Amino acid sequence: MRITIIGAGPGGYEAAIMAAKLGAEVTVIEKNVVGGTCLNIGCIPTKALLASADVLTTSLEAAKFGVFNDHTTVDLKQIIERKDKLVSGLVKGIEFLFESNGINLVRGIGKLIDFQTVEVKHDDGSVEKLVSDKILLATGSAPICPEMFHYDGKKVITSTEALALKMPPKSMVVVGGGVIGCELGQFFSRMGTKITIVEMADQILMVEDESVAKQLLRQFKREKIKVFTANGVADVNVQDAGVVVTLKNGEILEAEMMLLSIGRSSYLKGLNLEELGIKIDRQGHIEVDDTLETSVKGIYAVGDLINTPFLAHVASKEGIIAAENMLGKNKTAVHKAVPRCVYTDPQVAAVGVTEKEAQKRGIPYKIGSFDFRALGKAQIIGKIQGQVKVIVDEKDVVIGASIVGPEATDLLTELTVAVHLGLTAAVLGDVIHPHPTLSEAIMEALHDVHGKSINKVSLRL
Ligand SMILES: Cc1cc2nc3c(=O)[nH]c(=O)nc-3n(C[C@H](O)[C@H](O)[C@H](O)COP(=O)(O)OP(=O)(O)OC[C@H]3O[C@@H](n4cnc5c(N)ncnc54)[C@H](O)[C@@H]3O)c2cc1C
Repeated sequence: MRITIIGAGPGGYEAAIMAAKLGAEVTVIEKNVVGGTCLNIGCIPTKALLASADVLTTSLEAAKFGVFNDHTTVDLKQIIERKDKLVSGLVKGIEFLFESNGINLVRGIGKLIDFQTVEVKHDDGSVEKLVSDKILLATGSAPICPEMFHYDGKKVITSTEALALKMPPKSMVVVGGGVIGCELGQFFSRMGTKITIVEMADQILMVEDESVAKQLLRQFKREKIKVFTANGVADVNVQDAGVVVTLKNGEILEAEMMLLSIGRSSYLKGLNLEELGIKIDRQGHIEVDDTLETSVKGIYAVGDLINTPFLAHVASKEGIIAAENMLGKNKTAVHKAVPRCVYTDPQVAAVGVTEKEAQKRGIPYKIGSFDFRALGKAQIIGKIQGQVKVIVDEKDVVIGASIVGPEATDLLTELTVAVHLGLTAAVLGDVIHPHPTLSEAIMEALHDVHGKSINKVSLRL
């Protein structure tokens, strides 16, 4: 079986390795660097920067732990260099995996010619045609930059340019209070930039419950990050000195730079989809069935190209499923338990249904919660802000959860397993959790569903 994959992001590269392991002859076409958005301009670089910001915060708070460190300074240039080194090491890692799995990596821009042929245009202008039995499209997404924002990559930037800035700007307006806006907004705030976040929805992190967003907002206020919600941008005027942003409520913001983080759209450019009759939905995603096959037999699509959460772990999982299906298996892509993570401080992590969604859908539910403040481990590490909240249905099955607090993104896995497997709060709460760890907050929240949290402070009046 010959398989050609266009795009070597998490969707494409994991599909390639799985297909090779299953015995296929695999060719991957990549126009840029392997690893895609995630590795080069997304997940990994943002988290590398945030790791430096964490070290800074720890250093500034060292005295609270009896450790004295009088001269903490930051150098964004060196933070960026560390990030670049880390990224290039991981890129080499994927190239090595390709080599060791016998995957043929072709550099160039891929385009569909027919349902079995992909044309590759190389940098030197030469063109090559590859014929295969099955094709996987995994070309990812690009930032949405409506014209009215006058994106120029200098004063009006996206996350891509933000991740390469060697000097923090004095001030920055961040348009969009979603995951990327919150993460990069807080990072630059910690680098000394005066940050203003503008969000059109009623709250930042609009997908999550209001109580979750409020906890992050509290921290933003402490750090003097200004947040406008239920407000949009009416006009952008790029000047020599910076950017003048007029909000819909008439407020005028002036800043050295503006970061656009209002979302991403599937990257379909140049793939020749219409010619082949591959269906695209109204929002511009490629339509697939639940085996991830497009409307054209033998051509599959995954990751940010399709209408599932634009997340690396979703793309990877879909890539693996598509590879298995291309090789004769009949796997279904299920998105019931997709972890949603925000790597701010405090971190935010959630899975399954939110409380507001349960209410909207009329699902009878119960809540259990536990504050990190009441937990020994949180006190030990000095990170007491936040809460674990679990949502169970009538049968006590965990259908959703959120964590705001230290290591929330790592802690979430236990609750993701619960939602994925349909475990009850009673069963999961019965598991012995190690002490002292942050995971005890999950156990307490699970017990709290039944009013049996031992360490939760509840007032009996
Ligand atoms: C700033 C930022 C932070 C993020 N943080 C996280 C995070 O913490 N966790 C998380 O889960 N997700 C995160 N994401 C989202 C995540 O990066 C994407 O969901 C993920 O990379 C999508 O994977 P993909 O394989 O679908 O596409 P991509 O990773 O976008 O890869 C697509 C690849 O296809 C190549 N390509 C495109 N067109 C062609 C063509 N015609 N021919 C050849 N090659 C082509 C591109 O060069 C690219 O390498 C973040 C995104 C951004 C922008």
